[in-house]
Amino acid sequence: MKLELRGITKRFGSFTANDRIDLVVEPGEIHALLGENGAGKSTLMNVLYGLYDPEEGEILLDGEVQDFDGPGDAMAAGIGMVHQHFMLVPVFTVAENLMLGHEPVKGAGVLDLEAARTRVREISDRFGFDIDPDALVEHLSVGAQQRVEIIKALSQDAQVLVLDEPTAVLTPQETDELMAIMDELRKQGTSIVFISHKLREVRQVSDRITVIRRGKVVGTAEPTASNEELAALMVGRAVDLSVDKEPAKLGDEDFVVDGLTVFAADGSTRIDDLSFSIRGGEVLVVAGVQGNGQTELTEAILGLQERTRGSIRLGGEELLTRSVRRTLDAGVGYVPEDRTKDGLVGEFTIAENLVLDRIDDPQFSRAGGLRLGAISEFADESIESFDIRTPSRETHAGRLSGGNQQKVVLARELGRPLKMFIASQPTRGLDVGSIEFVHQQIIAARDSGIPVLIVSTELDEVVELGDRIMVMYGGRSMGIVPPTASREELGTMMAGIPHPSLDQEGAAA
Ligand code: ADP
Ligand code: MG
Repeated sequence: MKLELRGITKRFGSFTANDRIDLVVEPGEIHALLGENGAGKSTLMNVLYGLYDPEEGEILLDGEVQDFDGPGDAMAAGIGMVHQHFMLVPVFTVAENLMLGHEPVKGAGVLDLEAARTRVREISDRFGFDIDPDALVEHLSVGAQQRVEIIKALSQDAQVLVLDEPTAVLTPQETDELMAIMDELRKQGTSIVFISHKLREVRQVSDRITVIRRGKVVGTAEPTASNEELAALMVGRAVDLSVDKEPAKLGDEDFVVDGLTVFAADGSTRIDDLSFSIRGGEVLVVAGVQGNGQTELTEAILGLQERTRGSIRLGGEELLTRSVRRTLDAGVGYVPEDRTKDGLVGEFTIAENLVLDRIDDPQFSRAGGLRLGAISEFADESIESFDIRTPSRETHAGRLSGGNQQKVVLARELGRPLKMFIASQPTRGLDVGSIEFVHQQIIAARDSGIPVLIVSTELDEVVELGDRIMVMYGGRSMGIVPPTASREELGTMMAGIPHPSLDQEGAAA
């Protein structure tokens, strides 16, 4: 089925999220929709799926203008959508979830359980999904749950399948499996709209690429386009995607984690007897699929986890028993995963946020009073050097975009004397141009001679930044490897298989 979007405009209040967007997807084509966070990709797909009513424009299927009043209409017309967040009921089986998903839409009746099981088996066999209809969804891997979502869509005879950032939650191997499935779907005639901001994937699997920036189509490209060409289209200027760095000048083993165990409030083990060290002048990247203990690790270092055992030492001093305040004061710079919640006070100005934990610092206070001139000056410098896009330093941090909030936190944490720097997902939500800048800042911190710990789920970032890479799975280390490790090696560890050389520490590159 051929899909055409013509001149789609969708506004939220005075904000134009989609500005006269045209998109043509040929039958049996994988068409990538590439764009930065906030470019308007999901909005456009929600228009296609009948969730939003556009101000202007039309949707055509095989040349016929459609009028969707809701997802039911879109499904009935042959459009299927797999959202970024799955919509499955964990305690139900695959087949039961299929029944639920089957709203009685035009053409397709309600399924009974037996019919649902047969349907799952048929589709699974036909496309090589390897899904058991009677498996409980909560027992399935994330990759398998995603395949269940695809089966749901296909069971309603979807001929155009929209996958919104499907690889965000997958290991590299699961991503490869998904790509193989997409390929098979294409062969059997399904058209796919593949949404992503990851250049490598887009180039690997798609037939054509439409790039959108700030709500507008800025170009279409062939998959033979280079990463640099695509990035330049996405961002609107040339960007350097590789991280420039000198070989690490390694100092002492400044940061040592020894037998760290972290329990959750319910008594379950979140980190299980973890030991590693980071030397001064070295970046250790903790890689892994989200939710394998990485968050608990950074929180334990900061003193945000209550039920801990073992030891975490920085320059010989124990951090585990310290308060967060005292850990920060000891010179640990920290960029949390969720900055809007943990990193900033939204009702404070940017200037205030930039000195949030430094109110007692002589640079900013004297004899009990604040040195407002120095605070303003520091704010202006930070805004300038971190390219924080804001009307003024007096703007409330809560009003900034996510990427700019992130830059405020980074500017604050990197703008003071540090003995160690820790950042969780430092570039999540940033545009490609800002990513380049943040990577440079992280390398600068490393080259100042302190240990740097980065948690990242983005494999490209992991290998670009890391001097060594530790992969976590189920609260344990699957091994530490140099950044020359292959994607397959890293992916295998991310799936929970320890590296063969687990006993030896990976050599620093
Ligand atoms: P993408 O999927 O490309 O990351 P989105 O389509 O989700 O981007 O968002 C595009 C822009 O529209 C963003 O600036 C976002 O904040 C805004 N936006 C999305 N949904 C809404 C909404 N329901 N109300 C207001 N603004 C929205
Ligand atoms: Mg989106």
